[in-house]
Amino acid sequence: MERNLIIHGMLENNALRFAAIDGTQLVRDAQKTHGLSRVATAALGRQLLMTSLIASLMKNKTDTVTTVLAGNGSSGNLVCVGREGGLVKGYATNPETELPLRSDGKLDVRGYVGASGKLTVIRDLGLKEPYVGMCNLISGEIAEDFAQYFTASEQQPSIVYLGVHENAADGFVTGAGGILIQTMPNCPDESVEHVMTIANRIPTLGTRLAAGDSLEAILNGIFEALDVAYTNRLSPAFSCDCTKERLERALISIGRKELRDLIDQDGKAELTCQFCGKKYLFDREALETLYLEATDNGGIHEE
Ligand SMILES: [Zn+2]
Repeated sequence: MERNLIIHGMLENNALRFAAIDGTQLVRDAQKTHGLSRVATAALGRQLLMTSLIASLMKNKTDTVTTVLAGNGSSGNLVCVGREGGLVKGYATNPETELPLRSDGKLDVRGYVGASGKLTVIRDLGLKEPYVGMCNLISGEIAEDFAQYFTASEQQPSIVYLGVHENAADGFVTGAGGILIQTMPNCPDESVEHVMTIANRIPTLGTRLAAGDSLEAILNGIFEALDVAYTNRLSPAFSCDCTKERLERALISIGRKELRDLIDQDGKAELTCQFCGKKYLFDREALETLYLEATDNGGIHEE
């Protein structure tokens, strides 16, 4: 069965929109790529699901969204980037850090992320400057933090659910999914109230995905009492878009002096993509070429 799927739709005669994701496979792929601990799988997994949903709702093919969770927990920074169709990549500064379970037996995501800090969302829409929004973390559980972000920073009242289920013994991801519900302009209050009557059903998404149910069947159950219309299906994935050219530009940007030191001292450079772990090797000849393209201050030399 397809375990990477996004479904978009409208509720209550177009008064609200929703995006829902089964990202079970993409969270598994992130876990394997980065050797994520169980708590890191839950935290980065939730953020990847959210970032994929935001990306899936962007208008243009070249739009990207970057989300950064910088809390005071043990994770360091959590960084995700989403692009066309809900494709997403991400990493944690401390991917292998594990924390003891909470007293209720659940993973301590708040302890890992931190209950205070900042959530930053950068939307690059191809304009001169990206749109940068920021808010303080209010929970460290991630879904609440994004809901707060949408409401406070983007003036977009939102319901956010994110859930990653893992086997207690080995951390195998059995189900990972999320839902984002947002009001459309001029949404009547009674439509919001009607949707709120099914809010307590939304967390069944995580448990039912873990039980192997399909996303569409689960959504049918959650939205049963509402007027619902499905509008779009997408295939998200954990996927990196790094290229050698991008890393060449990074090397050029360190400037001539640093490049000269690198050439003289090491004679080569090996760069690893933070998002996917792919290694890129630059030999002396390649570095000399980049040196010629670089300027003293890190800009690219204009001919
Ligand atoms: Zn990469």
